[in-house]
Amino acid sequence: MSVRELVVLGTASQVPTRHRNHNGYLLRWDGEGFLFDPGEGTQRQMLRAGVAAHDINRICVTHFHGDHSLGLAGVIQRINLDKVPHPVSAHYPRSGQRFFDRLRYATAYRETVALLEAPVDTDGPLVRTPGYTLEARRLSHPVEAYGYRIVEPDGRRMLPDRLAAHGVKGPDVGRLQREGSLNGVALEDVSEVRRGQRFAFVMDTRLCDGVYALAEGCDMLVIESTFLDEDESLAVEFGHLTAGQAAGVAREAGVRHLVLTHFSQRYTDPAEFERQARAAGYEGDLTVARDLDRIQLPKRRA
Ligand SMILES: [Zn+2]
Repeated sequence: MSVRELVVLGTASQVPTRHRNHNGYLLRWDGEGFLFDPGEGTQRQMLRAGVAAHDINRICVTHFHGDHSLGLAGVIQRINLDKVPHPVSAHYPRSGQRFFDRLRYATAYRETVALLEAPVDTDGPLVRTPGYTLEARRLSHPVEAYGYRIVEPDGRRMLPDRLAAHGVKGPDVGRLQREGSLNGVALEDVSEVRRGQRFAFVMDTRLCDGVYALAEGCDMLVIESTFLDEDESLAVEFGHLTAGQAAGVAREAGVRHLVLTHFSQRYTDPAEFERQARAAGYEGDLTVARDLDRIQLPKRRA
């Protein structure tokens, strides 16, 4: 069975705290693993969360501040130490290539794995596979930052009662799916659109067009809410979101499961983020992320 879940490795902005590691997230998407924004300490958090270096197929870095990238050095060396048997691709803002180079080669080690550098310098699709398209959108932060989005293509769900009514059964079902029509029966007559799932990862940004574009129609949105609403002026100044702003985006975009994270260490009560998100009118599933949470993508829409 295919697994689609978010494993939260760390949730602190800027500096780790006693209860929160620097950022880090692994998304399991069927057989693939996407490691997002590995901050300092990500390698050890992977161990605690049961994530192996082998689980990583792609690394996506939104920007080169330490809480989103200092973990690259350790994770990349671990991928090589463990001789991960598949290539690993890395996506990050091209303007930060010098930071990526330093982190990749921070110390001496034996390179055993093909690490493919695929820097991002424009909005749009980065990779298309049969199972998903990975897209990037520019965000608004003091250093160049991109958010990421994974979009599964729409498919079709076969309807047993319609198949029976048209007398299609056995191997003919597969033939009809492959060929689009069979003996005068069209695929559309016996099936409905099965909407592909969508996941977005939005870190370190003010409100901007990219935030809304990434969030649009997502089954799960992982988004920073560094600040509470009373500190909105700080959020704007430093290029961040508040809980209410992030939840407002999720509400407008029709997000089904909102995951708030990347919290400033100035706040002590996580429940306040939830209260402000609800006050902003967001009514879907909501998680105020904690380190080592595992969060399933919602079941497909009926
Ligand atoms: Zn940050």
